[in-house]
Parts: sequence; structure tokens; C-alpha cells
Amino acid sequence: MFHFLKKTTVAIHHQHSLENFEGKPSLKINPRSKRIVFRCDQKTGKPVIVLPSSFYLKKINTYEASYHQWYANLKINPPRTLSTGSSFPYKGTPHLLNFTQEKLYSTPQIIHDDGIFIIKGRAEKDLGPALKNYLVAAALDYAMEKSHLYAHKLGVELTHIAVKDMKTMWGRCMRGKDLCYNWRLILAPPEIFDYVCAHEVSHCIHPHHQPAFWKLVSSFFPRAKESRLWLKKHGPELMMYQF
Ligand SMILES: [Zn+2]
Repeated sequence: MFHFLKKTTVAIHHQHSLENFEGKPSLKINPRSKRIVFRCDQKTGKPVIVLPSSFYLKKINTYEASYHQWYANLKINPPRTLSTGSSFPYKGTPHLLNFTQEKLYSTPQIIHDDGIFIIKGRAEKDLGPALKNYLVAAALDYAMEKSHLYAHKLGVELTHIAVKDMKTMWGRCMRGKDLCYNWRLILAPPEIFDYVCAHEVSHCIHPHHQPAFWKLVSSFFPRAKESRLWLKKHGPELMMYQF
């Protein structure tokens, strides 16, 4: 029943509504989604509009303007895919990427040195996935260390900490004790990652954004406001890195 609805919805929008959309986006329905998400397909780089399944009842002009705004920003900050010689930020510092072919290596090896990542492997196409694994692991280590530090300060107990490929969020606190972070925070300066950890741990006590929540965050993380502004300004650039 749900699948039928999904197919019908996509067909209707494609036929009648997406012709005037820049970049020719494709439509996807995500029944678990509660709002519209604009993103780029990780493999093709083409724009995708993800709609909640209930959205088929609404008219396309309700999200047309915000799509065009998002697409205009995409042209200024295009998705960045990495190859040898390109650079990307790691903990806020630019790092150069270097690939060396080693035909005997079944699993790519990563050497992280001052300002450079050297990846040794069979083929350059393995570079992206290998680097992403490395960065996800580094992000998890960092998130664990900082989250436990702040949880200890606030006297809260955490049950689970995870790092994921989140498309629209930097962090999330579930059930007042499970935390989840966007792995791309490892690209940002450490202070920014620290802030998101302080923010999410504070949600274990205050599961909202009322004044009491912000008062708690700034009581042990004084530069919360500056970090928030940094994320607002530079966050979209970090989201464009695709590995
Ligand atoms: Zn929050």
C-alpha cells in the first residue's frame, strides 16, 4: 500500500511540476521524514528533493522558492569530491591529500602527518571510502571524549554515543541519554565540535531550546554563541564534502 503511494506521488510530480526546477532534481519519498530535505546524490552529485510521504497532498509551489534558494547556494558552494592533490579541512586545518598506488595492499592504509593524509592502496577510487572510514572513527573518538567530559561535569549518564552521516543535523540527543553526531564535525575547528557536544549533553537535562537550556550551555561553554554563528556560516561548506 505504501509502495503504491510512493510510486504514484513521484510520477505526478515529475510529469507536472518539476520542469521549471533548476538543476533537474529527482524526487524521493521518505515515509520517516517529517520535512522536506534538499540534498545532492552522493554518487551522481545531482540534486534530490526528499519529501515526507504525506506531502503528496500539497502543491509543489510550497517548496519551490526554498528549493531555488538552496540551488543558488549550491552553485556558490558546489559538492567537493576528493582526489590526489586536493585539500580538505581536518580539525579546522587544511590538509593535502596524496594517493600512492600499492598493488599488494588489499585494504588501503592511511598515514596522517602534519597537514597531509597519505593513502596507500590498489586504486584511487578506494581513496574516498578509506578516508571517510578514518574520519568517522576519528570523529567518534573525539565525540566520546568530549561528551563524557561534559556529561561528568553535569552529572548525567550517557548510554550510547554514535557518529553518522547526517544530512541536516550536527547532533541529536535521544531519550535524554543517547547522543548522535554528524561525522563532518571532525572537519571543523575542535572548539566547534566541543560546542556541539556541550549542546547535546545539555539536552540530557533540558530537552528543548528554552532560556534554561541556553543558560546551562553557556555556564560551562562560554563561547557557545560564537560557535553557533560559526556553524551557521561555515556549516554548509562542511556539508558539501563527499567522500
Ligand atoms: Zn539543540
